[in-house]
Amino acid sequence: MEVDMMDRISINLYSDTQTRPSSGMLQAMTEAEVGDDQHRRDPSVNQLCRKTADLLGKQDAVFLPSGTMCNQIALLVHCSPGDEIIADKTAHILNSESGGPAALAGALIRPLEGENGIFNATQVHESVRGSSLHEPRSRLVVVEQTSNRGGGSIWPLDRLKEVREATREHGLMLHMDGARLMNASVASGVAASDYAGNVDSVWLDLTKGLGCPVGAVLAGTEDFIGEAWRWKHRLGGALRQAGVIAAAGIWALENNVNRLAEDHENAKILGRRISDIPGMKVEPFPVQSNLVFFDVSATGRDARELSKELRKQEIWIGAVSQNIMRAVTHLDVSLLQIHQAMDALKALVR
Ligand SMILES: *Cc1c(COP(=O)(O)O)cnc(C)c1O
Repeated sequence: MEVDMMDRISINLYSDTQTRPSSGMLQAMTEAEVGDDQHRRDPSVNQLCRKTADLLGKQDAVFLPSGTMCNQIALLVHCSPGDEIIADKTAHILNSESGGPAALAGALIRPLEGENGIFNATQVHESVRGSSLHEPRSRLVVVEQTSNRGGGSIWPLDRLKEVREATREHGLMLHMDGARLMNASVASGVAASDYAGNVDSVWLDLTKGLGCPVGAVLAGTEDFIGEAWRWKHRLGGALRQAGVIAAAGIWALENNVNRLAEDHENAKILGRRISDIPGMKVEPFPVQSNLVFFDVSATGRDARELSKELRKQEIWIGAVSQNIMRAVTHLDVSLLQIHQAMDALKALVR
């Protein structure tokens, strides 16, 4: 988005990726100790990786430019060309990474019909391939915590454990796209390490609700991270004085995790306001984290048109299809702004 457009958006419910670094975070960035990350000698990057590995209960972690690169590198480490990945049909790796799994790891994706992005062990059992050479080799299961296109739904720990058992039985690896894992943890009260303890690899996005300008951290065993480093270098993701941005991540883990509860509270209120508008349906309802997906079709209005009309009023809520809109709460949007946005939306469909 062009800067001048951004400045005219006074209520930004488009995405938690739109957050700007706060003054405390910027201060931490200017004071960061730095070194050469490509030689693993940036103390701030190393500290962020240690902190994240500990938070997730993993042996090691690697700092990467984006969540997409975390996913793609994990797939590259886990899979060989021709392997098959089992994931929900709504998965980010399938819908939003520009065909990366096919282009890079050379893997196929077997999409499952989950419920709000969450599937079960039976579905995994049923989708694992046999040993025939006619079939691709099942290799990896991917879960998304929270499920983005599943409406911010949270994988219950018991469901994750069931899926973990299934992957063990079939000798598959399990990867967690944890773009919003800290949202899931804060909303459910389950420690991030309890979720992460049930998967082989997992990452956190620093640029979503945590409010950083750049970066994500991928965690796993020492061996896995060793291989991930090779891909980081190959893909040009090995950085130099990246401590400047890693410091934002450290600051965010110390200051912006507990406050996610506020975003969830605001999202619940937002969800209730939307479902009070005749013809609008929030799914899942009640809202589970900071993403609010809602179907506007019964109002007779087109989601994209509504989104455009709101934009004229300096309110940004995205349309993901002709019928579905998505509103996202985050640290740069207040409860008052949410009520203002909802008043505007309600007036548009009256
Ligand atoms: C945002 C997101 C990603 C990609 O993260 P980037 O840091 O934007 O590359 C991956 N998975 C999910 C579920 C996401 O929401």
